[in-house]
Amino acid sequence: MESAGESAPSDRSLPLVFTAPRRGKPPRHWADLTAVERREAVEAAGHRAFRARQLSAHYFAGLRTDPAEWTDLPGGVRDELAATFMPRLLTSVHELTCDDGTTVKNLWRLHDGATVESVLMRYPERVTMCVSSQAGCGMACPFCATGQGGLQRNMSTAEIVEQVIDGARRLDRGEIAGGPGRVSNVVFMGMGEPMANYKAVIGAVRQLITPAPDGLGMSARGITVSTVGLVPRIQQLATEGLPVTLALSLHAPDDELRDELVPVNTRWNVDEVVDAAYEYAKITKRRVSIEYILIKDINDQAHRADLLAKVLRRGNWGWVHVNLIPLNPTPGSKWTASRREDEEEFVRRLEKRGVPVTVRDTRGREIDGACGQLAAQVN
Ligand code: SAH
Repeated sequence: MESAGESAPSDRSLPLVFTAPRRGKPPRHWADLTAVERREAVEAAGHRAFRARQLSAHYFAGLRTDPAEWTDLPGGVRDELAATFMPRLLTSVHELTCDDGTTVKNLWRLHDGATVESVLMRYPERVTMCVSSQAGCGMACPFCATGQGGLQRNMSTAEIVEQVIDGARRLDRGEIAGGPGRVSNVVFMGMGEPMANYKAVIGAVRQLITPAPDGLGMSARGITVSTVGLVPRIQQLATEGLPVTLALSLHAPDDELRDELVPVNTRWNVDEVVDAAYEYAKITKRRVSIEYILIKDINDQAHRADLLAKVLRRGNWGWVHVNLIPLNPTPGSKWTASRREDEEEFVRRLEKRGVPVTVRDTRGREIDGACGQLAAQVN
């Protein structure tokens, strides 16, 4: 008898972390295409080119994805165009709300059964949508729920955009507590490492900031791309001419600790990621956000606050803003948030030197929708 364990030893030498299972590609969608590609695709499907503009006006400006609402198009072509160009990419599995309905977490099933989450957070002066860029995540940070399940697959541009379109539509229709509104901010801080799905993420950013009706017409300044620090991608992002905010998940000022908290640090270390972030700030003239989770007795000591100030210094600290995030609980993690007095001392040490710093007001903890809690559990 052959034993399965003896066959194909070369398979087992593949680096497991980097081989995501290949699942089916999501169907092509209107939000995957540029304005030029849309005209070409509409013509290739046997329609007049001006239909592309009508479809974009419905999708991006009117947020109308139901063909029954496309009353300026002949009845016969509506369903066909919808089926060809706007296949359903996200199916709602469930929705949880808190903060009197101003925080809404959605669990979505993708066409191949993979699940992802997005969170809408309404504040008095803005609405922020936190979107996923991958189903799962391959970065394996031990404090983050998403990292525990590994990477399933990259999301497509349209799968990313559709999360925003859904929130925008519901706000527009007055379906979110607080009356009609608009999405002002999008943060790539949901599931996944956006820089590991670079092309689709940049594609999504372009769909969000392209003026209506060819895109959602958001301001690039309202968009934040958060990364564990994939240095070549940070450098590439700086050359795109997209003035989005970069957030760097630093979490430790020394390599010894960061190797443990953010495993990719063994590839690009603290000095290298901070240098790349500084270059990003210089090139784009956008202040970089430094994300730093406060974990009790792990990274919240006064000497680490001092060291953090030191590693971020480039003449001064005018190029950064440190965002301290109290650790949110995740299943199976032994770590907890810092004591109040340690958090205050950490802030004080940074402020004393003039490092711009705030403590993040965390939303959605009750519905497992806060930073690091997204695991897309169906039950
Ligand atoms: N992979 C990217 C995008 C995810 S962003 C990144 O890591 O930047 C999610 C943010 O929440 C990151 O700053 C991440 O480090 C932080 N986070 C993860 N787990 C957390 C937890 N348990 N408590 C608080 N913040 C957490």
